[in-house]
Amino acid sequence: MTTGFVFHELYLWHNTGNDPLFAPAGLTVQPGEHAENPETKRRMKNLLEVSGLTDHLAMLKPRPATDDELARFHTRAHIDRIRQMSDSGGGDASEMTPFGTGSFEIAKLAAGGAIVALEAVLSGQVSNAYALIRPPGHHAVADLGMGFCLFANAVVAIHHGRAVHGLGRVAVVDWDVHHGNGTQAAFYDDPQTLTISLHADRLYPANSGTLAERGEGAGFGYNLNIPLPPGSGDGAYLDAVQRVVLPALHRFKPDLIVVACGFDASAADPLGRMMVTSDGFARMTALVMQAADALCGGRIMMTHEGGYSAQYVPYCGLAVLETLSGVSTGVVDPFLDHMKGFGQMELQPHQAAAVDAAAALVADIG
Ligand SMILES: [Zn+2]
Repeated sequence: MTTGFVFHELYLWHNTGNDPLFAPAGLTVQPGEHAENPETKRRMKNLLEVSGLTDHLAMLKPRPATDDELARFHTRAHIDRIRQMSDSGGGDASEMTPFGTGSFEIAKLAAGGAIVALEAVLSGQVSNAYALIRPPGHHAVADLGMGFCLFANAVVAIHHGRAVHGLGRVAVVDWDVHHGNGTQAAFYDDPQTLTISLHADRLYPANSGTLAERGEGAGFGYNLNIPLPPGSGDGAYLDAVQRVVLPALHRFKPDLIVVACGFDASAADPLGRMMVTSDGFARMTALVMQAADALCGGRIMMTHEGGYSAQYVPYCGLAVLETLSGVSTGVVDPFLDHMKGFGQMELQPHQAAAVDAAAALVADIG
């Protein structure tokens, strides 16, 4: 079993500046660092190296996605607008998505990184793959960047897999704490792509990701949202994976599973309000791997999405990659015992009710 790993130094050079997110422009509050800054990604990469895990991974070199590859999902107007802003000092792709000079090229390298990871899995070069790419992608829609995302990395990779490699049914499991609205929009009428998003109820985007958003036309039933109450921990997330995600995957029978892997549902995240631990992320990974082994030859490709705790994301990332690769480094998450003791880490009745509501929709996947 070999796990592929995509990374490039340029991913850390995407400059989001000191945008204060929700604060209005002007001298209302001292600017700080943008939440989506390089540190979480840099420190995750560093821990993978120092732990020795990198030695067991197959390094995959990313390439830039072409304009035509991006345009399988994005409008030419969006692509050109990002290019023009990037070439003229930077700008904002829309809400809270600032970027600087060169981010157009870096965003193309991120989308291309997802393509390379997907191709390595499809060709059998690796058993599964993780793309530690930046900027993230799951909020970007066809004609707009959103929520720190410029281009929809996973969507572009899936379209490429279909157009070039004959890829068939794809299931996307998105456990970033925010709703995967861009991925949902990309495949909303497509019965060949099952999109599942586990997220904090109406955290971002506003009023997005409800149970009622189920797809349209031939794609009805193939979009599944699992909005969870704030405060959900390992118990709620594992219950949702076991009672909604796994049954949905088994009904759908994908040829490949894409995981939009954000770590902002962690118990230490500054933007999320959930309590997942590194052990929770590892166990969710193991469950999805079991489904992939049963359904699609183990083929999983993960794209890195959100996650904003510079202290904790590295341990969550290490746990996921140890699970994907089957290699244990022996590095202990120093936060884990403390977090496991948090009140209501186990499944709570109101969380089980939220999972029940989503589980009732699985039967429509045919
Ligand atoms: Zn997120």
